[in-house]
Amino acid sequence: MRKVPPEEYLTKGLYTTLGDYQISSVDGVNLMAEEESKPVLVRERLDVCELDRARMSLLNPALIAQKMAERTIDENAKPLIEMAMKEGIETVWDRFEMQQPPCKYCEAGISCSRCTMGPCRIIPPHRIRGVCGADADLIVSRNLLDTIATGSAAHSDHGRDIVETLYLVGTGKTTDYGIADPDKLRLIAKEYGIETAGKSAHELAATVGSAMLEEYGMVKNTLQFLNRAPKATREMWDKLGISPRGIDREVVDCMHRIQMGVGADYVNILLQGLRCSLSDGWGGSMMGTDVSDVLFGTPTIKSSRINLGVLREDHVNIAVHGHNPVLSEMVVKAVADPELVALARKNGAKGINLVGLCCTGSELLMRKGVPMTGNHLNQELVITTGALEAMIVDYQCIFPSLPRTASCFHTLIISTSAKATIPGSYFFDFTPDKGFLTAKAIVRMAVENFKNRNPKRVLIPGTPVPLMTGFSNEAIKNALGGSFKPLIDLIAAGKIRGAVGIVGCNNPHVKHDYGHVTLSKALIKKNILCVETGCAAIASAKAGLLMPDAAALAGDDLRAVCEALKIPPVLHMGSCVDNSRILVLAAELGNALNVPIHKLPIAGAAPEWYSQKAVSIGAYFVASGVYTVLGVMPHISGSSAVVSLLTEGLKGAVNANFAVEPDPVKAADLIAAHIEKKRTGLGI
Ligand code: SF4
Ligand code: SF4
Repeated sequence: MRKVPPEEYLTKGLYTTLGDYQISSVDGVNLMAEEESKPVLVRERLDVCELDRARMSLLNPALIAQKMAERTIDENAKPLIEMAMKEGIETVWDRFEMQQPPCKYCEAGISCSRCTMGPCRIIPPHRIRGVCGADADLIVSRNLLDTIATGSAAHSDHGRDIVETLYLVGTGKTTDYGIADPDKLRLIAKEYGIETAGKSAHELAATVGSAMLEEYGMVKNTLQFLNRAPKATREMWDKLGISPRGIDREVVDCMHRIQMGVGADYVNILLQGLRCSLSDGWGGSMMGTDVSDVLFGTPTIKSSRINLGVLREDHVNIAVHGHNPVLSEMVVKAVADPELVALARKNGAKGINLVGLCCTGSELLMRKGVPMTGNHLNQELVITTGALEAMIVDYQCIFPSLPRTASCFHTLIISTSAKATIPGSYFFDFTPDKGFLTAKAIVRMAVENFKNRNPKRVLIPGTPVPLMTGFSNEAIKNALGGSFKPLIDLIAAGKIRGAVGIVGCNNPHVKHDYGHVTLSKALIKKNILCVETGCAAIASAKAGLLMPDAAALAGDDLRAVCEALKIPPVLHMGSCVDNSRILVLAAELGNALNVPIHKLPIAGAAPEWYSQKAVSIGAYFVASGVYTVLGVMPHISGSSAVVSLLTEGLKGAVNANFAVEPDPVKAADLIAAHIEKKRTGLGI
């Protein structure tokens, strides 16, 4: 394969020169059928730093054992962490250690590099303003607004990609995708006031897709799905002036306010943060979830398996990682293609084994029951099994270092989004109009790579844990007999004290999975139902909490409910964008009881969050009236005014607030106390 030299990459442009690179082989292996897409090697294949490897491999065995125990509670991850340290293969935990101690100004949020009059830091007692005059409150709030806008943009742009696919399906510009849930499409069309009578699913897809794309601009000046919230919650937003006007508009408004010389009042800046986050939760993310259901199927309850043990020694193993199901749905189709299965057999494998990681994995798990390898901090470890032929990534939460890890093995990192090309990866420009052909080319590349695997380096630890997944709101309602009334009755009767949405990531500041699993166990013990998404749900799944027999760990009342309904005490509701399902659940409960969301006995928690997207999620939970406990302190401690506004002041505005509690046992106590207070408020 011809490499693209950096100067050519810049002067000619990667995407306009794809045709110039006639790639027929990787390392001498023939890759492509003629009609299929062709990859470009982004820059060059990377190699790990030999110095790092040498240094780490000198660690003494006692230290390796200690680090292994400190880094994770995932038993299947431990042997791979150990092996990586012994072989000097760098992982996220090593890089985290190398970054200690952190810059205390950045950690407190009081450094600013927005303009070239700076960079500036606030160093009391004398240096209390940046060159422009911004004080700690302004610098901290601007940094936070930047973070919220970034997270909101990421979710909402993902939503746009899904909506665009719906539009392409409706207008006949792609035939690779269909309408898997036409009933849901009709319901959404009705919400938008679109006449459905006599219209085909494809006609509706075009009209609904177009109406949804309009939500991103500013002409309409409101978002349709805000109407799903209880009336009193919507009135609260209007009164406060935080009802979002358009998804892109709110992100642009944030970026304008953080330009030097615009936003100067930290309260005004943080209110815009709430408005922008609402455009994510009730806008971009909600459309992403609902349209994914329309295109790929609304999840139903099903079983699957999880952990690093889902890799198969005698199969071609392919992992999909990232967030966008538009790509991964096509990969599901491609791995079942008889021609590629036959090719895998010809190459000495028994078949093709597709597995998921992070939120792309959750999307496939919820809808198709595709097994999961793990969550965010498992991503490098999947490669270190030595049994992975290819990791196919789209965007978000993908370590840029993956090609370095892969270079220690035969694994190919295959990037697929023009927004997220990764040096050292093989890039396919994936677009829905040629989705299946591209997916086939990618899978072919992985299959051909099987023969490069070194069997002596394969280490697949443990056996998979079973799980139950697919708890969309529709699936929960069906399980309850067609409405949420039985759930409301159980809450009113005190059999379920309340519900908590546990969401978010892994973060090396917290022992991997410890925060999620400990909090979930503590809450179910208190008869509080957990609904989980993203890497939180995956942590609970690996710990066995997504199985009905985990009810044995719950309090007596919740256990009896779970046993009667044959459900786990922790319900998997999907990926990070699917936190919108939790908003819809809260809205449906509020509407049924005719109360605003903030009066419900519910809460949110993000014990191991790391991402800007998680800040946006936390902000839209709180702005919607959901008390939310974070396990990791955001970078705001440099402004007591900002801390006080978020933890106390917001109660007077949106009737909810943030709390920060790193100890998950104490976090469970805070949440239980909050839920009991809300129950008293409702008189139940
Ligand atoms: S915006 Fe103000 S505080 Fe920030 S770098 Fe520029 S001068 Fe410094
Ligand atoms: S939960 Fe966090 S780490 Fe996991 S996929 Fe979502 S944003 Fe990424």
